[in-house]
Amino acid sequence: MTFSCKNHDFDTDICKKLKSRCIMGRRGCVLEGRVALSEATEKLIAALEEELAKKRKERRAGS
Ligand code: SF4
Repeated sequence: MTFSCKNHDFDTDICKKLKSRCIMGRRGCVLEGRVALSEATEKLIAALEEELAKKRKERRAGS
């Protein structure tokens, strides 16, 4: 199966919709709930969400 997403910036591998890394099936992705995720992908998503939560916390503390 091939899939091309209109939100994917191929040069940077950034999702233009979520404004961070493209990981198919992550929360907010057009494929969320429509694809089965491997254990490795679930770990990637958990790491990304942890990183994003940390950045949000730092931003709130800095403002
Ligand atoms: S995360 Fe999902 S919506 Fe975003 S670019 Fe990747 S496939 Fe598309």
